[in-house]
Amino acid sequence: MPVEFVPSPNIVQLRPSATIAVSTRAKALKAQGREIIDLGVGEPDFDTPEFVKVAAAKAVAAGHTKYTATEGILPLREAIAKNAGTLWAGDAAQTPVAADVVVSNGSKQTLFNACFCLFGAGDEVLIPTPAWTSYVEIVALARATPVAVVGDPANGFQVTVADLLAAATPRTRGIILNSPSNPTGATWNAHVLTQILDLARSKGWWVLSDEIYRRISYEVPAASSLELTTDRSNLIVIDGVAKSYAMTGWRIGWAIAPRAVAKAMNDLQSHTTSNAATPSQYAALAALTDHAAAEESIGTMVAAFRARRDAAMTLLTEEGAPPYVHPSGAFYFFIDVSAIPNGGDDAGTVFAAHMLEDHGVAIVPGAAFGSPGWVRLSYAAAEADVLEGMRRLVSAYRAMMSVPA
Ligand code: PLP
Repeated sequence: MPVEFVPSPNIVQLRPSATIAVSTRAKALKAQGREIIDLGVGEPDFDTPEFVKVAAAKAVAAGHTKYTATEGILPLREAIAKNAGTLWAGDAAQTPVAADVVVSNGSKQTLFNACFCLFGAGDEVLIPTPAWTSYVEIVALARATPVAVVGDPANGFQVTVADLLAAATPRTRGIILNSPSNPTGATWNAHVLTQILDLARSKGWWVLSDEIYRRISYEVPAASSLELTTDRSNLIVIDGVAKSYAMTGWRIGWAIAPRAVAKAMNDLQSHTTSNAATPSQYAALAALTDHAAAEESIGTMVAAFRARRDAAMTLLTEEGAPPYVHPSGAFYFFIDVSAIPNGGDDAGTVFAAHMLEDHGVAIVPGAAFGSPGWVRLSYAAAEADVLEGMRRLVSAYRAMMSVPA
């Protein structure tokens, strides 16, 4: 008799990634011969810098193809700690060192390790929302309860201390911060972040600060939590090479955590994936230590993102264009389509489906991020595609709202 699959209690809450659902449908339409402009993606359209590729090839040729320590090779952890040390605002005794660093298979695994080690059944974790789609799922996999805290859209959805206090209960154990934010593209104000860090410390909450987009900002530089606090005993900084160095496929992320937390995350990883891929660790080492080459490639990429952002933003200033969050970091526009007729309580999904099926543009419904009235458009794509996609979006929105052209 065939064995029936009944999901275990571990995954009963798990939902497939909504961002992947969009790209699957876009691929299906492409396979039917439709031309689709894909603005759903969350990865730089740039190639990994040449100096990184060369370092990885050299590492393979030199035989760096075996297991490493679970937590990652020492020179990489030293480089991560050294870079973090230049940001650290507290006293010398708490300066991050290699022993506080755990390297994982992408920052997604880092987040999983941190949540799994810090939270459990009965715990609540505050998630400023809209938020990256995996936070909710990862917290739930740890059997804790994700608690969405929705900020003011007029303020880039940043949450205030008052918002957090209103959502907190005696079971609150932590908060996940993400600036610049996926999906909003907002870079959070350093003062707002400082107030949240102070609140979390006074309440004894863990802070998971996801800084994967920190190097991609267009106005004021995005602050690291390490710059905004002098006590990191409750702080786990999460970062990686995926976005800033166009290295999504290499799968290298890391945590800078209090020593005991780093040890627990390392122990967990030792029984799941062991070390991150060895050649990838050497690639990341080059990215983090050849500062001149790295700054040049980050500069080139950020300048290209900025040019696309500026050009696309002018289209959104047109009469009848939808409201949106000011995009000061990462590479996303977060656009409010909640007013469209017949959008119901999930206007973003209705609008995104219309854009894909009728206008050939793939964007992600805000429901994937906890904001059903919105859509996310990525400008990590060729400038001509970004502009054509945005033009179609604005004109589709105007048509739906019956704004005369
Ligand atoms: N954090 C955020 C906010 C992201 O947008 C992403 C990727 O989309 C990640 C983490 C995961 O990055 P990585 O490729 O390092 O796992």
